[in-house]
Amino acid sequence: MSPLAPLKASSLYFTPLPPSHVVPAGKESHGRYMLTIPWNRVSGWGQPKIAARQELSFDPLAGVLQYAVTCFEGMKCYKTDNGDLRLFRPDKNFDRLKRSAARLGLPHDWDNDELLELFAKLVALEAPIVPDTDGSSLYLRPTLLETSEGFGIKDDAFAAEALLYVATTLNLGKGLYPSSDGEGKGIKLDACKEFIRAWPGGTGSYKLGANYGTVNISKKPGYAMSLWLHGKEDFISEAGAMNVFIIKQAEDGFLEFITMSLDGGIVLPGVTRFSLIQLLTEHAEGKKDFPLEGMPKNVRVVERDISMPEIISSLENGTLKGMFGCGTGVVVVTVGEIQYQGQTYTIPANPLIKLLRDTITGIQRGKIDEGRGWSFKVPE
Ligand code: PMP
Repeated sequence: MSPLAPLKASSLYFTPLPPSHVVPAGKESHGRYMLTIPWNRVSGWGQPKIAARQELSFDPLAGVLQYAVTCFEGMKCYKTDNGDLRLFRPDKNFDRLKRSAARLGLPHDWDNDELLELFAKLVALEAPIVPDTDGSSLYLRPTLLETSEGFGIKDDAFAAEALLYVATTLNLGKGLYPSSDGEGKGIKLDACKEFIRAWPGGTGSYKLGANYGTVNISKKPGYAMSLWLHGKEDFISEAGAMNVFIIKQAEDGFLEFITMSLDGGIVLPGVTRFSLIQLLTEHAEGKKDFPLEGMPKNVRVVERDISMPEIISSLENGTLKGMFGCGTGVVVVTVGEIQYQGQTYTIPANPLIKLLRDTITGIQRGKIDEGRGWSFKVPE
């Protein structure tokens, strides 16, 4: 058997938009192009194509339609003040997509550099329509799914055919969450006891489509997101599509940034979470002060379980100094209020949350060169 073809950016087939191309009514916020890369078990990766965004069609018994064999990523492409396009740590999203794909029996053997070259070509084509105001971006939705029949229980769990594609939308920075400015009153979360998002050994730490289909039905009107709980102790895991940190004063004088540990596979390993942990840890260790000027020296990052009763008791004894969510969508956002078992808890605001938000957005928009190579400049 001949070896399976690897994913190759150099075999890209590009079809420019025809002069007669018109943006369909109601689809003005979509990117005009789309990248598609087919895969099958016999020959491996097929020819990548970039062409006008179009609808997809599948067999009615395709794995994606029957058993939700689909995973995805969420990334943003930013336009800097001088017109460059930037992606934030794309390798982290590609690695997470590989992990999700492996969990579903989908192909996950691509070379990230080849994929990045294709992403760069796609976003460069959209350069004229990528907005450049603060908070705006081109949102990228890489998706990988099983297009072959995924029906019945099979001995061989691996898909026969799959499709990796990237569709894009314009994010005009209108703010998904009105007070997502990292300061002020912050967003309201509803601590959800009725629906459980993830459990030990489940798929919560993978970005599978199946994890998200139930999200909106669980969210209460008037709240930005659900705060997901698990276990009889009501541990908080994450909120909506963001990881969560609390800021707590420790007895030894350190300010602790505490976030749920990745152990147990309940929490999605967020790129923003990971980046904040790295910035705060390097700052605390004195390895690299930059770019967290203004952050006290005596800070510590702790990854462990946090329960709702702990949040309530630290609010009561005054050691809770703030709470925030983080993710590609919100960047860093203050949590101002939690609704839990019929009670409303107001969380104190903390200016350090804005410092973290400004630092991450500064790096993403190319205003801060943090010296770690996190911002990838898309070649023109
Ligand atoms: N948790 C969940 C459930 C998410 O969907 C997201 C968004 N990808 C995050 C956390 C934050 O991850 P990231 O920082 O990589 O966007």
